[in-house]
Amino acid sequence: MSNRTLFALVSPLALLAAHTAFGQAPAAPAAPAQPDFSAVQIKVHQVAGNFYYLEGQGGNVGVLVGDDGVLMIDDQFAPLTGKLIAAVKTISKKPIKMLVNTHVHGDHTGGNENIGKMGIEIIAHDNVRARLVKGVNGAPPSPAVGLPVVTFGDAIALHFDGEDLEVAKLPPAHTDGDSYIKLTKADVIHVGDVFRTVGYPIVDGPNGGTVKGTLAALQKIIDMAGPNTKILPGHGVVSTREDIAAFRDLVASLQTKVGDMIKQGMTLEQVLAAKPTADLDAKLGPSERFLTLFYNALKTEL
Ligand SMILES: [Zn+2]
Repeated sequence: MSNRTLFALVSPLALLAAHTAFGQAPAAPAAPAQPDFSAVQIKVHQVAGNFYYLEGQGGNVGVLVGDDGVLMIDDQFAPLTGKLIAAVKTISKKPIKMLVNTHVHGDHTGGNENIGKMGIEIIAHDNVRARLVKGVNGAPPSPAVGLPVVTFGDAIALHFDGEDLEVAKLPPAHTDGDSYIKLTKADVIHVGDVFRTVGYPIVDGPNGGTVKGTLAALQKIIDMAGPNTKILPGHGVVSTREDIAAFRDLVASLQTKVGDMIKQGMTLEQVLAAKPTADLDAKLGPSERFLTLFYNALKTEL
């Protein structure tokens, strides 16, 4: 079985499991148990120049390589750290020097403790650290060694491996600590889970995500991207500015559709029963969890 086939089989459940454990509102429906990490295989994809991403279980892991060493973006789940590092070594024999977290969810920060113990510097937005310190969605607080040691409010610039990286906060979208990482020379933007090419847009209200912020964040990415910019989503495949625009339009249409139902006084149960996304489920998968989070977030914004 190829890696791609394996990923295709396990991906939808894994994404649900990831958000169940780390990124889901308490009121959202239960999702399947976590996948068997021993079966996960890591696949290496080149994005542009000296920038790659690793596809495994959880968020896409960015890997910048060069003379200065390796910079990683996100680290999936703790049980996968060894496999991820082995995959990095197939690209570069240089040491891993830095890790940037795009946001707080455990399918992107789950390896932080292992990475921190290796002496690798972790960088993230202030809110990512603040949430990890408290523990995310009922999880225990992160050990100090797994916490970001460099945090920022608006933006931080990194100069590494001949690349100029702009790491900056987005409006509160998927969470309140979403950052993008722009590689100015490679013309790539890693946008975390603000954008995904698999499944519905996830607005994690309990972790500070908002629908309005999602639309603003997507617009910001569209505005900063050029026609040839490669967009690396938190989940899914390398995309373009046009793909982001289509995703923004999807979120906007869902905002209108679900927003109208809320304005009519419909409860969450009534909205779920009305199946407002029935026409999209075949393409985007089960919608109950998405709708629950989206409804709860949107209700506070109207
Ligand atoms: Zn996420």
